[in-house]
Amino acid sequence: MSRKGLTRRGLAGAILAAAPVASMVSAQPARRRVVVIGGGFGGAAAARHLRLADPSIDVTMIEPKAEFQTCPFSNYVLAGFKTMADITHGYGTLTARHGVTHVRDMAAAIDPAAKTVRLAGGQTLGYDKLVVSPGIDLRWGAIPGYDEAASAVMPHAWQAGPQTILLRSQLEAMPDDGVVVLSIPGNPFRCPPGPYERISMIAHYLKAKKPRAKIIALDAKDAFSKQGLFQDAWKELYPNMIEWVPLGQDGRVVQVIPGEMTLVTEFGQRHRAHVANVIPPQMAGKIARDAGLAATEGSLAGWCPVDPFTFESTRAKDIHVIGDAAIAGAMPKSGFAASSQAKFVARAIAASFAGHPAEAPVYANTCYSLAAPDYGISVADIFRATPGGIVAVQGAGGVSPRTPANAPQFRDQEAHYAEGWYASATREIWGS
Ligand SMILES: Cc1cc2nc3c(=O)[nH]c(=O)nc-3n(C[C@H](O)[C@H](O)[C@H](O)COP(=O)(O)OP(=O)(O)OC[C@H]3O[C@@H](n4cnc5c(N)ncnc54)[C@H](O)[C@@H]3O)c2cc1C
Repeated sequence: MSRKGLTRRGLAGAILAAAPVASMVSAQPARRRVVVIGGGFGGAAAARHLRLADPSIDVTMIEPKAEFQTCPFSNYVLAGFKTMADITHGYGTLTARHGVTHVRDMAAAIDPAAKTVRLAGGQTLGYDKLVVSPGIDLRWGAIPGYDEAASAVMPHAWQAGPQTILLRSQLEAMPDDGVVVLSIPGNPFRCPPGPYERISMIAHYLKAKKPRAKIIALDAKDAFSKQGLFQDAWKELYPNMIEWVPLGQDGRVVQVIPGEMTLVTEFGQRHRAHVANVIPPQMAGKIARDAGLAATEGSLAGWCPVDPFTFESTRAKDIHVIGDAAIAGAMPKSGFAASSQAKFVARAIAASFAGHPAEAPVYANTCYSLAAPDYGISVADIFRATPGGIVAVQGAGGVSPRTPANAPQFRDQEAHYAEGWYASATREIWGS
């Protein structure tokens, strides 16, 4: 409309015509805000899948690191056939392509009543829904003598990064006939088959470089994930190199003395090590515990109870705890499980914003382990939520056979599948 053509009536009409538009704009609901704590398997997957489920959701991921190094495949860095670069992933795709805002800071406190997260840097972020996936903290002091300072001498390498590099360099530096001692915790802990894959990968390295060396694995349990498969592989690939000491044979470490490189077991046996890999007991990341999201008593104290159908905290509304920090019934603490939970929770949050009920959840986990670079084994499961907790669907999963026909090819094929799993899992979370 030209200025000249604007009569008094015309102008009034234009204003009247514009009025409903203005009120429509102000009636638009504000963009829904989801804050995600953690940029690991659970957090980064949740952030990405929230944006995929509904691009109108404003997603802010709080993660101090510029890049994430995965625990999956970190055992292969110890063995020497993968590098730290191979297990490092940036957040560029999440931010540039998916529109996730990455705030490089630590979440310092959650206020569930005010629905805010305070950052270590001082900023406060409001949320409509909060996803908490901070992974694990190590229980320093649970094994007397094992604190953060001790981990500089006896690495845990249970959070990938400098600890992985330290353990690798110790293995390289130890004498040719040296002894590696591992301390393995009781359940529950991050990655149930992880310690046994680690034993295999250390053995693989020693077999090639220091065949006179020995591995003693002191375990606080009598049974472990994929046990028969691992033990068959050890007998076949690393005869006389590995001694696994279960709980029943005095496997539980009750004290470490880093200055003497000694691990002491329940009945007083002292094991001297050239390299000591102490994997201590664990608990949910600090932010979750500080926010009151973790159980404070019982065998699962330190981990976060959640509704099996939604992963919403049973202790705080509109906060979903996923990944290792959560008590997820039969689901193991794995990256695959964390991302499976993340995808479901992302869709459930988008559905709740849209006023729809969440779909019935079906969760999954597959876990590959290598006993050697050409020797893979796996376990797979499907899970359903029930009012009593998350349970495995009987007959829906399985483990690798112990005596497959054409075993060498079968194991080699599974090792290839492991590579395929890692490539697709990490691409789906951090990649293009
Ligand atoms: C040796 C080893 C091998 C493994 N192999 C496999 C495997 O083959 N397959 C598999 O599926 N799983 C494997 N896992 C398990 C897997 O690593 C974990 O289950 C997975 O990382 C859990 O995801 P998460 O999101 O809970 O925690 P993480 O992936 O650890 O992510 C947590 C993130 O939260 C951040 N964070 C913590 N606190 C805060 C805070 N206050 N504010 C902001 N950010 C915070 C941390 O910096 C971190 O980046 C393995 C683990 C180990 C140790």
